[in-house]
Amino acid sequence: MVDYINEELIYSLLEKSKNVQKNEIREIVEKAKKCKGLGLEEVAKLLYVEDEELLNEIFDGAKFVKNKVYGKRVVLFAPLYTSNECANNCLYCGFRRDNKELHRKTLSLDEIVTEAKAIEAQGHKRILLICGEHPVKTDIKHFTDAMDAIYKSGDIRRINVEAAPMKVEDYKQLKEHGIGTYVIFQETYNREVYKKMHPVGLKADFDWRITAIDRAFEAGIDDVGVGALLGLYDYRFEVLGLLMHINAFEKRFGVGPHTISVPRLRPALGWGLGEIPYLVNDNDFKKIVAIYRLAVPYTGIIMSTRESAKLRDELLSLGVSQISAGSKTSPGGYAEEEEKADQFEINDHRSLSQMIETICDNGYIPSFCTACYRRCRTGEAFMEYAKEGEIHEFCQPNAILTFKENLMDYGTDRLRDKGNEIIKNALNEIDDENIRKSTEEKLKEIEAGKRDIYF
Ligand code: SAM
Ligand code: SF4
Repeated sequence: MVDYINEELIYSLLEKSKNVQKNEIREIVEKAKKCKGLGLEEVAKLLYVEDEELLNEIFDGAKFVKNKVYGKRVVLFAPLYTSNECANNCLYCGFRRDNKELHRKTLSLDEIVTEAKAIEAQGHKRILLICGEHPVKTDIKHFTDAMDAIYKSGDIRRINVEAAPMKVEDYKQLKEHGIGTYVIFQETYNREVYKKMHPVGLKADFDWRITAIDRAFEAGIDDVGVGALLGLYDYRFEVLGLLMHINAFEKRFGVGPHTISVPRLRPALGWGLGEIPYLVNDNDFKKIVAIYRLAVPYTGIIMSTRESAKLRDELLSLGVSQISAGSKTSPGGYAEEEEKADQFEINDHRSLSQMIETICDNGYIPSFCTACYRRCRTGEAFMEYAKEGEIHEFCQPNAILTFKENLMDYGTDRLRDKGNEIIKNALNEIDDENIRKSTEEKLKEIEAGKRDIYF
């Protein structure tokens, strides 16, 4: 049995953290603002905060860290579902084997390319490939063929993959075919709950799943994304479990996660749950995002369209650095909407251009940057840059350049006016004069028709 998660320790930390003095919480928030992260004991204490005043201080701390590490950038992407066929029976998921109401579909390569083009036509450059776990329909070749076809056929510049655990050899293939980040959610870090939620199939094996990140690292993939599916069990346990998992692989491989996702359970057609077992309300959800931001400052936080428009806008300031937009959760959903093929119901139906406008209205800059992994700034190298604050020198100019491209190629007149104003302000925020000048020159090249220029 893999011992990454010490459940006894989690429960004892939680037990000890129930009645913490206000000043101790304040000290923890102040410490977090130094951007060096937090330990499990400190996180456990924050997780019990309910007092409104203290919660606001946690939120302010998260805003501070987000601003310092990520500035105003928000990276955008869209998921591409290639198949909803699945041999597992995860109780919460619309794709589960026993859901007889679902229209099953695995896209052909042509259909995958059509979907990628539809996503690209919205203005995206970054895709997350996702599908069910099926031994034949979604084997490794399904992924690598899809990646080759997408990269070859258009201007999608980064393909991240969210997939069930694989063998090291298969991860090596993902790497060879140009994976950006490999994403996998443990769903729940509690073994007993895990067993109940995943009764059959390969996914029933908790250890095979929790060691997936290790195998990905062994195969040379060093940008990895993790997450716990919120709503299956006590969120406090899950946050500590996830941080323990991170500690375990960071100790072995010297690299933390590139991203943490915060998926929260959504109703799904034909699911096997009567109701959400441990409902996480919006306030607790905000607290979770803010605590992740404080605890792991250099890891991106991803939020999907599972959340409402209002909450998504609010959470931009609290620590979220990547969001999906204009999403569909069924195979073929971008080209033509098929009924009863979705994994779960989405909650924010805004198009990418509406999302871009909202991001600008809130004072942020949309980024379509895909430069880091193409410049080999991944894994440890990325973390080094991030910790030195040098990542700003790449990310801010790259956000500006990719947003400019987006405005020119996809923007309406109104959005261009708004966007150009945001770009002007973002340029002024670049302290280094050489970088600012170089960005201005590159902007002119983009205006003259050149594309895909980055630092
Ligand atoms: N099938 C692969 C697997 O399970 O690892 C790939 C990912 S699955 C298609 C995407 C993720 O969606 C799951 O890991 C789970 O966390 C999440 N998910 C499943 N059902 C959900 C629901 N009803 N609401 C919100 N998220 C859900
Ligand atoms: Fe299949 Fe993944 Fe859904 Fe589970 S979460 S039923 S493995 S698609």
